[in-house]
Amino acid sequence: MTKLLSFEQLNIGAEILRKGGLVAFPTETVYGLGANALNEDAVKNIFKAKGRPSDNPLIVHIADYDALNELVTEIPEKAKVLMDKFWPGPLTLVFKKSEKVPETVSGGLDTVAIRMPKKPVALELIKLSGVPVAAPSANTSGKPSPTKAQYVVDDMSGKIDAIIDGGNCEVGLESTVLDITGDVPKLLRPGGVTFEQLTEVLGEVEKNSNVMTMKNLHHRE
Ligand code: AMP
Ligand code: MG
Repeated sequence: MTKLLSFEQLNIGAEILRKGGLVAFPTETVYGLGANALNEDAVKNIFKAKGRPSDNPLIVHIADYDALNELVTEIPEKAKVLMDKFWPGPLTLVFKKSEKVPETVSGGLDTVAIRMPKKPVALELIKLSGVPVAAPSANTSGKPSPTKAQYVVDDMSGKIDAIIDGGNCEVGLESTVLDITGDVPKLLRPGGVTFEQLTEVLGEVEKNSNVMTMKNLHHRE
């Protein structure tokens, strides 16, 4: 049975996350399907519930900077400037990962994608759970990313432990993914923070040749 939880019941969702369960929750971009990022079995269940290929890495969601320190080996100066300006918000940064991050999260890569969401219900849930939360969009693979709780109920009921109904997602676009492990930051996926906003802060930003286009962004996994 999938529990439908309100904002007042966030502590129940947090407890489920701590115990290794799956909880869908709203962020400002889309609804995410969350699990404790440090629990390999829990993370594997995300891939199962979504039917997602295991080499497609997950974004880890955090609510404070202490969590970042334990997940990465290095925080480049450019990342600090970006976090100052765009966190909490729809910008995901790719860092070199620490040993604490399971390979299931990073799809076998030695990097990890991290973001601090802006929506209070997401931040509060992560804080209450006390763990970093790996979360792709809360849809089965191939379907559009959900922006309303009802879409998650329709798609994921029976496959996950709980859904937090926290209203609609304001941005509706996924987060921008930027790799800051090299000399020149590389845009891997366009999203809520624009290329222009990034170049304004960073100067040079490389566009990956196979970067997703805005056109197919809503219809991807
Ligand atoms: P989704 O969870 O569906 O929003 O997709 C997350 C996307 O973030 C992945 O499909 C990758 O494009 C990107 N991503 C996540 N982790 C990494 C990483 N370590 N390196 C590069 N890209 C990543
Ligand atoms: Mg997705």
